[in-house]
Amino acid sequence: MRVTALQAELADALHKHTCPVCTVIENSLKTQIGHILYESVNDGILRSRYIEKDGFCHRHASLMRSVGDPLAHAVLYGHLLKMRLTSWQKQRPKPAKEGCLLCVREAEIENNVIEAFKQCLKRPEFVKAYRQNGLVCQAHFHLIALAPTRQRTDETLQFKAITLDKYQRLLHHLEELARKHDYRFADEERTTEERRAWQEIVDLLSKKRA
Ligand SMILES: [Zn+2]
Ligand SMILES: [Zn+2]
Repeated sequence: MRVTALQAELADALHKHTCPVCTVIENSLKTQIGHILYESVNDGILRSRYIEKDGFCHRHASLMRSVGDPLAHAVLYGHLLKMRLTSWQKQRPKPAKEGCLLCVREAEIENNVIEAFKQCLKRPEFVKAYRQNGLVCQAHFHLIALAPTRQRTDETLQFKAITLDKYQRLLHHLEELARKHDYRFADEERTTEERRAWQEIVDLLSKKRA
């Protein structure tokens, strides 16, 4: 079976307790953001599309800022601020719109990555690697493993079993971490997994695009 670029990226994104689907989506978004920032300085159509959608949502604006590029930010936000000043001076605030251009793009990317992940599950070497490393977050677990019954395959059932087992182990680490906070067990050494578990679970159980 031919391995597509997305499937190869997913295999490379299998690390400890991080979601490979989230990692690949974020990398892809950052590439998109790089293009938007680069193009926006000279591309008036892109700038007006950006203004039409009333800027970027907080999550995507933060991601964009983390990529950097002061010139592109100055141009994009300069245009947006000019529009704002006009509407404020006229006492006509624009009603806020839901989502942003990158929310739309992210949904498309997510569909593609989920499909690629389902294809990966048909490859025994990928499943073996996933047993060792990586843990799909709650949002992506729902999309892959809790699909309507008719869409469930042997691969997704196997994936579900592996993932539940990993979450059980993570729960054990969290419970052990809490137990060892009790003064009666305070002399027991905390394992590396326990020390990491409380931070890992935050990303895994956070609501995407909430
Ligand atoms: Zn995820
Ligand atoms: Zn957005």
